[in-house]
Amino acid sequence: MNSRTAQKPKVGIFGLTGCAGDQLALLNAEPELIALAGRVDVVVFDMAISRKEEWQGMLDLALVEGSVCSQRDREELEKIRKQSRSLMAIGSCAVWGGLPAMTAHIPVKQLNKQVYDDGEVFPKAMGAEPLSSFVTVDFSIPGCPIEIGELLEALAAILAGGEPQRIDFPVCAECRMAEQICLVQSQNRVCCGPVTVGGCKARCISYGRPCDGCRGPVDDPCYDATREMFFRHGLAKADVVDALRRFSTPAWVERNLAADFAGDPQRRGHHRSQTKESGT
Ligand code: SF4
Ligand code: SF4
Ligand code: SF4
Repeated sequence: MNSRTAQKPKVGIFGLTGCAGDQLALLNAEPELIALAGRVDVVVFDMAISRKEEWQGMLDLALVEGSVCSQRDREELEKIRKQSRSLMAIGSCAVWGGLPAMTAHIPVKQLNKQVYDDGEVFPKAMGAEPLSSFVTVDFSIPGCPIEIGELLEALAAILAGGEPQRIDFPVCAECRMAEQICLVQSQNRVCCGPVTVGGCKARCISYGRPCDGCRGPVDDPCYDATREMFFRHGLAKADVVDALRRFSTPAWVERNLAADFAGDPQRRGHHRSQTKESGT
């Protein structure tokens, strides 16, 4: 290692329980990755280079993918946190709990029984949680997988001694800017765009699919306007709650959305049948 390399910030890229899609997205961004490698010293990259057990020093920044689904995950995360000056959660599993948290409202014992019957549970599972349930998270990049441009912009800001810009607008904003036809208004389809954090350029809508909320909830969503829009189109906000449960911790959904939907199940039943009758 020459002296120039030694002065670069040391970065580790780790994976807990997840599909490794965020690490893969980073690996696939070859030109950007090469540029990044010129500015930082990547000393751990679970998916790409040496085993993390070999790294014992202090990191300037740890990028951690995946949610905490076992005691082993938790211990590993706490070790990473102790070894890192800053920690960034990458991907909706790490930021919100993500897909593994989809069933977190079901008791773990019940899930284990369904999957393993009376056999040994492997690994020792616990309800999926985001990183912030256990350690301090300095920066978060949501997405399933992450938007590589957003990650690189955030890294550039951090390397320059600043803070990454926080996206505080919903997917709807980008959808309207791209002049997409709204799928709620034109096809009465459930779309999580109004309550989901933007940054993906409304990718799914551009392919004719509604937003599934993969980037997690936006700060301060317009609940009332969303509810009224869904109501006008024979849908219920409860449908958005169901959709958001796929990517966000149930605790967040219950705290921020479910209470606000009191009474919606009746509405939903009524309007679903209306929607069916109207042939949409
Ligand atoms: S956020 Fe999505 S891409 Fe990333 S680990 Fe989780 S499931 Fe995979
Ligand atoms: S509700 Fe969905 S389809 Fe309609 S504007 Fe928002 S993101 Fe686009
Ligand atoms: S449109 Fe929604 S589901 Fe699709 S990438 Fe964007 S946030 Fe994720």
